[in-house]
Amino acid sequence: AGASMEPALQFFSEEMNQRVREHLRIESELREALANGELMLYYQPKVSLRSGRIVGAEALLRWRHPVRGLVSPGVFIPVAEETGLITELGNWVIEEACGQIRRWREAGLAMPPVAVNLSARQFDRGLPQRMADALERHQVRPEQIMLEITESLLVRGAEPVVAIMNELVAMGLALALDDFGTGYSSLAYLKKFPISTLKIDRAFVVGLPHEENDCAIARAIVTMGQQMRQEIVAEGVETMDQMAFLRDLGCDQLQGYLFSQPVPAADFERMVRAGR
Ligand code: C2E
Ligand code: CA
Ligand code: CA
Ligand code: CA
Repeated sequence: AGASMEPALQFFSEEMNQRVREHLRIESELREALANGELMLYYQPKVSLRSGRIVGAEALLRWRHPVRGLVSPGVFIPVAEETGLITELGNWVIEEACGQIRRWREAGLAMPPVAVNLSARQFDRGLPQRMADALERHQVRPEQIMLEITESLLVRGAEPVVAIMNELVAMGLALALDDFGTGYSSLAYLKKFPISTLKIDRAFVVGLPHEENDCAIARAIVTMGQQMRQEIVAEGVETMDQMAFLRDLGCDQLQGYLFSQPVPAADFERMVRAGR
């Protein structure tokens, strides 16, 4: 029996080995990527259901790897989170988003606010000051930036998190709760946090309007958000049917491939100009 176990064990450890090596490789390449300017932000429009206009954008990280091409954040963000590199990456994102907003202003363009994703690990006592510095450096008004955070932050739930959020909001920055409904936060948490926008996760949008459970969840989120005077954004909208359903619910904004994939800044700029 012992002998027959061996191949399985060997296979297992080899697989582990490979994952560890892959992880280390991504980590070291990611450091180089930061230094070599291989990272970029793509922008995905958020569209108002009332006006049909682009009223915002989400900035999404892209890595233009010299050999492997465009690497998705789904691959490297988890590695960056584990190694702590996410702090540097996150600072780069804030810097780049503010820099882009400044370039748009200098070009005389009126562009909608840009939302950046924050990792829970970026959310420390130094964050408000780092945000203030970036805004100041690029002469960006706080209304031009929005911060997307996830429920994992709320679960951490301790007093400092609320204090940091309140500080950011007092500076004029708006907070959006991302991937809403997929985490573990109780609804009771929600009212303690100064959140102005709820984003319905794509997982619940995908089944609209046919999956009864998805419909019920989407309806519940929109109703609750309206009661709490929050803006509701649905993400991952791909079909006209989904759009119609969300409009009937009273959802405020949509984001998804139906309108556009995330695109480079210049393409997003053209989209906004064309929509005016
Ligand atoms: P997320 O914040 O939930 O971002 C939405 C993801 O859904 C994006 O994937 C976007 O490209 C994708 N998406 C948008 N519309 C559609 C659609 O209609 N259909 C489908 N199938 N997908 C759609 P992306 O860009 O690959 O990013 C994945 C995740 O990586 C993000 O999820 C976010 O958690 C993380 N991420 C991306 N950029 C950053 C960043 O700058 N900082 C941090 N901390 N995380 C980031
Ligand atoms: Ca997001
Ligand atoms: Ca999301
Ligand atoms: Ca999501």
